[in-house]
Amino acid sequence: MSNGVKKILIFFGAPGSGKGTQAKIVSKKIKLPTISTGELLRQEIKEKTKLGQKVEKTIAKGKYVSDNVIAEIILKRTKNKDAKNGYIFDGFPRNKKQLNNLTSNFNLGRSRVFAVLVDVGDKEVKSRLGGRRVCGCGMTYHLKFNPPKKKGICDQCSSKLYTRKDDKPSVIADRLKIYHKEIAPLLSYWDKDDKLIRINGEQSIKKVQQDIIKELKKRKI
Ligand code: AMP
Repeated sequence: MSNGVKKILIFFGAPGSGKGTQAKIVSKKIKLPTISTGELLRQEIKEKTKLGQKVEKTIAKGKYVSDNVIAEIILKRTKNKDAKNGYIFDGFPRNKKQLNNLTSNFNLGRSRVFAVLVDVGDKEVKSRLGGRRVCGCGMTYHLKFNPPKKKGICDQCSSKLYTRKDDKPSVIADRLKIYHKEIAPLLSYWDKDDKLIRINGEQSIKKVQQDIIKELKKRKI
C-alpha cells in the first residue's frame, strides 16, 4: 500500500471450522499472504528441524506449543518481503499472552486490523474433522465437502494426502476444550472495538467465502 498502512486480518475458528481454507481463498483475492502457525510448525516437523522435533509430540496430542516458540516463528515470518503490505493470521493469536504479543509488537495502531470468526458448532466440528485430509504443501481437503480430483492425491502438487495425527477423535475433544477456554477473551477484545466480523461457518465453502468478502468490502479491505 502506498500510504504504508498495513492490512491485518486475523482468522478465528474452532479446529475444523474451515478458517484455514477460507484464509487461503481470501489471501488470493486480496493479495496478502496467509500466515498459519499450524502450517509453519508442520513444515518444521516435516523438515525435521530442531524446533520441529521439539514441538512434534505436543502437536500430536492437541496441546498448544509454547508462546515463545510461536512468537519466534511469527516474528520471522512477518519480516518476509511478501508481508510488507499486511497479512492474514490463521491460528494466531490463540491465547491472552499471544494477544499481548500481537498488540505490543506489531504496530497495530498504524494498521487496519479486523478479526474474522468462522463460527461452527462443536457437533459440526467433530463430524468434519474425521474427513479432513491434508498435504505437506499446505492444501487441505475434505473427503465429502472438498475432495481432491484424484483420490488421496493433492490437486496442487500431486503428493500423497494424509490425516493429521491431531485429527483423532480423542485429540479433537481436547483441542475443542482448549479452544473454547482460550478463545473467549480474544473474541471479546476485538468485539468491543467493533473489529470482529462473525460469519456463519456452517454453510458451503463458497457461501462462507462470499459472506467474508462481502463484509471485508463493507470495511474497504
Ligand atoms: P492448526 O493447524 O491451526 O489447527 O494448529 C495445529 C496445532 O499447532 C495446534 O493444535 C497447536 O498444537 C499448534 N499451534 C498452532 N498455532 C498455535 C498457537 N498460536 N499457539 C500454540 N500452539 C499452536
